[in-house]
Amino acid sequence: MKKRKKKNYRRIKKVHFVGTLISLAIVIAIMYGVLAGFVQIVRSYIVESKLSEEYRDFSYLVSLYEQGVNPDDPYLIFDKKDYAYIVKDKDGKVIHKHGEITFDESEEPFQIFFNDMMTVKIHAYFDNENNHFRLREDYVIPDLSIDEYFTLMGDSINIGVENSGVPPEMVTNYDPEGIVTVYGNGLNEKMVSLPLWMTVETEDGSARFIFKAYMNVIVTEYVMFLGIITIVCILFAVVLIITLINAISSFINQNRTKKLFLTDMVTKDRSWISFIMRGEQILRKGSSKKKTFAVVNLQFVKYRNYCMCHSLAEGEKLLREVNKVVVSKLNKGELCAHATNSNFALLLSWDDKDKVKMRLLELIRELEKIDSNHNFSFQAGVDPINVRFNVKGKAIKREDIDLESEYNNAVTARISIGSDESGVAFFDDKLIADQKWIDAVEERQQAGVSREEFKVYYQPKYDPKTDELRGAEALIRWQSPELGFVPPGRFIPIFEENGFITEIDHYMISHVARDQKKWLDEGLKCVPVSVNVSRAHFVEKDLAEQIRDMVDKEGCPHEYVEIELTESAFFDDKKAIIDTINKLKAYGFSVSMDDFGSGYSSLNSLKDMPLDVLKLDAEFFRGDKTGNRGEIVVSEAIKLAKCLDMRIVAEGVEIRDQADFLANHDCDMIQGYIYSKPVTRDEYVEKMKVGKQEKLDQVN
Ligand code: C2E
Ligand code: CA
Ligand code: CA
Repeated sequence: MKKRKKKNYRRIKKVHFVGTLISLAIVIAIMYGVLAGFVQIVRSYIVESKLSEEYRDFSYLVSLYEQGVNPDDPYLIFDKKDYAYIVKDKDGKVIHKHGEITFDESEEPFQIFFNDMMTVKIHAYFDNENNHFRLREDYVIPDLSIDEYFTLMGDSINIGVENSGVPPEMVTNYDPEGIVTVYGNGLNEKMVSLPLWMTVETEDGSARFIFKAYMNVIVTEYVMFLGIITIVCILFAVVLIITLINAISSFINQNRTKKLFLTDMVTKDRSWISFIMRGEQILRKGSSKKKTFAVVNLQFVKYRNYCMCHSLAEGEKLLREVNKVVVSKLNKGELCAHATNSNFALLLSWDDKDKVKMRLLELIRELEKIDSNHNFSFQAGVDPINVRFNVKGKAIKREDIDLESEYNNAVTARISIGSDESGVAFFDDKLIADQKWIDAVEERQQAGVSREEFKVYYQPKYDPKTDELRGAEALIRWQSPELGFVPPGRFIPIFEENGFITEIDHYMISHVARDQKKWLDEGLKCVPVSVNVSRAHFVEKDLAEQIRDMVDKEGCPHEYVEIELTESAFFDDKKAIIDTINKLKAYGFSVSMDDFGSGYSSLNSLKDMPLDVLKLDAEFFRGDKTGNRGEIVVSEAIKLAKCLDMRIVAEGVEIRDQADFLANHDCDMIQGYIYSKPVTRDEYVEKMKVGKQEKLDQVN
């Protein structure tokens, strides 16, 4: 099982959404913090600097009261100042009252803190009327007779005056009654007063005064504070609105992107990405851990042909219809998505193999009828997600299952159907073994080249009339220390699929050119050796130049190298192939068509291709295809080649009669077991030295 790939699309989606939320939360938190801090500063300024004044004044009177300043009328000092207040004893009994008491005693008091040398904590009540935002122009310190001041405080009168917050020079009036009154705060500013009832207790706790105080704030300060708070609030509101707009628009954008990701462009339904994400969610869900599932690759066979005959738009309409039918057949917790071109991915619940097969066949029957004018076929590959084991034999956990690779298994199963007929195939042990083999080959291919594990075998070609050596074909073998001796049929198709074949072709051309050069230098009687060049390679524009340079690098004359092209390659870009053939010929290489007769339009290709050699496919000489009809075809093919000025090689000849027949019909060469199997370099050198080889009577 391949290592899990990181699903970037999933990460992008999550990070963006969380990011927006986090940035919004940060902005709100900063705004809240700054606002709270600011309010705290304003509050402490007002409470500490304003309320504490009143509290200090009254406390001072209470301390005088406690010292018994006026034994005849202990409350005179309060009454004179015209405080509204109430005095309670220890038990809460009212012992004195003055003025209008406008607070509710039954209400819970609240606490006020402020610093006055040390932190003071007092109880306070709101004023019932609470409409006493009043403007004051006067600012009055406690009215006391000057004698009282002097008697009680002595020189500390100055301190008392200072404590009242009014500098002594501001004491503007000393009336004959001995009342010290200070008017204004010295700056002649207007005040705003907020009534509040505060408690002051005597030190011994015998009496508790609750008096009406005024929190005095200078109007200009008050307006300034209000202004600043308003500006700050407006600023924050603007920032908040901008951030909110940003967050909302980014949320909408993300949703749009998400929708784009999760919706298929063709079917307008669930996309491939959505299938993977939702599918893995379903697999990991605790409740579905006991259930078993299967991933299905459903293919609309020959969809491309349909699109070519009609139009892409018509084809896509049909895909939408297919999607609709499949979705309508799903049970709860099952999924379907359009994956690629004509492929759909399904996640089905799995009961047992037969039931799933029946269900899919039924679905296919339904889909075949999707358009009564056409005979469509559909194929399904199924990969059951049962318990899987990793390389070490340990069971793979559900959360480690990679739906994409499971789907690939389903595709592999579907491909194994082979034909174009409707059908269902399962990913089984053989396919797993095949997959493992592919992995093993791919893992070792590069090392195989660099460690020269690939060996060149030579299969000689002989003239059937004279039995003389005329040429050879270079055929690859893999001598792998881990995989053992591997015939080309086991790895060439894998290399053709994964593109490594081009490297192999280079490897073979270079090795053949090197061998030929060495043998020529040794004075051996060399013959042209053909090398297979894969179809994938032939589309490269500068292939002829590449081959020329490789051969030149080894110092081998060009006439000793022949290039074999398989017949199926001639269906590709005809013009490009003709160009390359012409160039190769101009450089002095000969070019042959391999496997002639195994495809369909061989004859047609011959017309335009300036080839040197035609290799008759081994199929002509297999089993019951021999006999009269076969002989006619072969003899006519030879004639055709001769007319077109081409040499002809018969491949895969094992029977003596066939070899004789070919000799009688002017076939130029035979490459077959009747003469020799592909042999090692050294064995081939021996064959070159001998030059001639009798046909075998019996091939074993
Ligand atoms: P091919 O190019 O058609 O090669 C001829 C195949 O027929 C060889 O199989 C050869 O051993 C086999 N053959 C020749 N005469 C007889 C016969 O009388 N009887 C039987 N039964 N078989 C005969 P081989 O070497 O296993 O190669 C198989 C295929 O692998 C080749 O078919 C070719 O398509 C591919 N291949 C081999 N070597 C290379 C290479 O170096 N490069 C590329 N691109 N493909 C290669
Ligand atoms: Ca060949
Ligand atoms: Ca061949």
